[in-house]
Amino acid sequence: MTVSILGQKYTLKYESDEAMEGNLGTCMPRKMWIKINKNIVKVQQEETLIHEVLHCISDELLLSLDEGTVQRLAAGLHSCGCRVRVDK
Ligand SMILES: [Zn+2]
Repeated sequence: MTVSILGQKYTLKYESDEAMEGNLGTCMPRKMWIKINKNIVKVQQEETLIHEVLHCISDELLLSLDEGTVQRLAAGLHSCGCRVRVDK
C-alpha cells in the first residue's frame, strides 16, 4: 500500500502490536515509509495515519511541527472527516 504526499509515494505498512512495540504508528520521512499498528481500533488507525502523514509533511516542508502540534492537528482534522487516501 502507498500514500501520496506532496507528489511522492510513501510505503504504508500495517504491523502487529508486537512488531510496533506498542506504538500506534511510526514513520521515517526520509526513507519514505509509514507504519501503523493494525491491532488498534479502526478510528484510531485513521487518526494515527493522519498523524504520521503530518510528520512527513512537516519534514518535507520544513515546518518543524512539534509532537503536541501534530497530535492536535491530527485530532482536529480527523474530527471534521479528513481521511488519508490509501492506494493499493
Ligand atoms: Zn508523532
